[in-house]
Amino acid sequence: MIEVLRLGHRPLRDKRITTHTGLVARAFGADGIVLTTEDNAVINSIKKVVKNWGGNFYVKVIKDWESYIKNWRGVVVHLTMYGLPVEETIRDLRGKDLLIIVGSQKVPKEVFELADFNVSIGTQPHSEVSALAIFLDRLFEGRELYKEFNGHLKIIPSEKSKKLQKI
Ligand code: SAM
Repeated sequence: MIEVLRLGHRPLRDKRITTHTGLVARAFGADGIVLTTEDNAVINSIKKVVKNWGGNFYVKVIKDWESYIKNWRGVVVHLTMYGLPVEETIRDLRGKDLLIIVGSQKVPKEVFELADFNVSIGTQPHSEVSALAIFLDRLFEGRELYKEFNGHLKIIPSEKSKKLQKI
């Protein structure tokens, strides 16, 4: 079980980035995303992709992120540029149930304490979307790119044109 916890979300600014965090989580092999703010535009966008493109990816909204983290029965990973390098930590994380926390604005310091692993993807500030994509790719060692979603829409890879199969 690999779940992503998107901590924080500013409805006026973060719609696209929270949606993209969900889409990356799904496309790169996570089972679901947990949001701390109910934003129907985001939830509907992610669910629409699941409906058309397949898989069992879920979206849920929680009120109390702190107790959610404390009650997670698995390993808690917080992606932060201040953490230990992904190259050094990823071996300990493969094959485990993971709750992967990504932030939006400033992440409360309790999260650093609650996490079993604070993991950095390089030591420069970038984005929750890129950090999550690289983390999942390192976790699954590239195998996630071959995952079958069995959706209504499927791309036939093509050198020069868009080939879309509708099932
Ligand atoms: N300034 C915020 C702070 O100090 O917590 C970070 C905001 S950043 C735009 C949003 C999220 O992207 C972070 O909470 C973290 O999850 C992720 N992130 C950004 N750069 C990262 C890095 N180099 N390694 C791991 N995660 C990163």
